[in-house]
Amino acid sequence: MKTNTELLADHTWLKIGGPAEITTPQSKEELVKILDCCYQSNRDYRILGNGSNLLVNDDGVDELVIKTTEACMEFKVDGTQVDVGASMMVPQFINKCISNGLGGYEYLYSVPGTVGGAIFMNAGRGESHNMTISDYLISVEVFADGEHCVLTKEDLQFNHRYSTFQDHNDWVILSATFDLPEQSQEKGNRLIKERMEKIRRRERSKPNAGSVFKSGSRLPLHKIPPGGLSIGNAEFVSGNRICHDGNATFTNIVRLITLAKLLNRLVPPFENPEIEWEIWN
Ligand SMILES: Cc1cc2nc3c(=O)[nH]c(=O)nc-3n(C[C@H](O)[C@H](O)[C@H](O)COP(=O)(O)OP(=O)(O)OC[C@H]3O[C@@H](n4cnc5c(N)ncnc54)[C@H](O)[C@@H]3O)c2cc1C
Repeated sequence: MKTNTELLADHTWLKIGGPAEITTPQSKEELVKILDCCYQSNRDYRILGNGSNLLVNDDGVDELVIKTTEACMEFKVDGTQVDVGASMMVPQFINKCISNGLGGYEYLYSVPGTVGGAIFMNAGRGESHNMTISDYLISVEVFADGEHCVLTKEDLQFNHRYSTFQDHNDWVILSATFDLPEQSQEKGNRLIKERMEKIRRRERSKPNAGSVFKSGSRLPLHKIPPGGLSIGNAEFVSGNRICHDGNATFTNIVRLITLAKLLNRLVPPFENPEIEWEIWN
């Protein structure tokens, strides 16, 4: 197994994170071999997708980091059923579905993560829309507890930004099977365009990791003091999004979130917001 010591800041959308030993398998076979090896030798590991939902400590992590973005890229269509590798980026997956006359996930076109990361997070549109990637999911090919197996949707639990995988951090999603509605390419392309138009005004150029809190528990704008809410070089650019200038630290961001949570608890309607990000500490 080839590994490199690298800064996780170079692998996360927030551009924060200290050193770790990273390996990037180039095929599903290589990924499974590494996972098997770790399992046999009791070596702890963490799975890194595209790093778009991760806040990582400046001290880095001790576990082996397995970056999955290159490993599982297959895409197979049989009627309305699609098998897709967990490493494929969500927009690429959606484009391929559209080219095959299938649709349903265009609202996820703005998600800059992998299919595996999206299933782990049960990525979706705001809570009130009640639409998530698990909607058309049939089954998931996984490496779980030393076994390479398939779990059906019924074997798993999905909730708002929650999947069973969050309780089993050593389980690894290798691919997924979906049964998608048929849809014209024209409609698919229009829906993508509408989605991207909707988010056009959002700040995406500065380091960020999308929504900080799960929807329904965002920081209402009336709770943000005049002049904004910021610590160090990190600030809330909206009620639910933190951006920074590239120089913020893990501690800056954690303190900013703590402050926002405190405001949420002290100012009506008195909420206790739940963080959406995965935190590697
Ligand atoms: C600009 C921006 C917009 C966003 N918009 C949305 C949105 O509209 N809706 C939404 O739900 N989210 C959104 N997100 C959050 C994020 O993109 C999603 O949660 C995405 O699905 C994370 O995928 P990833 O590959 O980047 O995962 P990572 O951030 O790399 O990892 C997240 C977690 O998933 C685990 N994981 C990743 N891959 C696997 C795998 N193959 N097997 C097992 N575990 C795995 C990791 O261990 C980690 O715990 C946004 C983020 C950004 C930066």
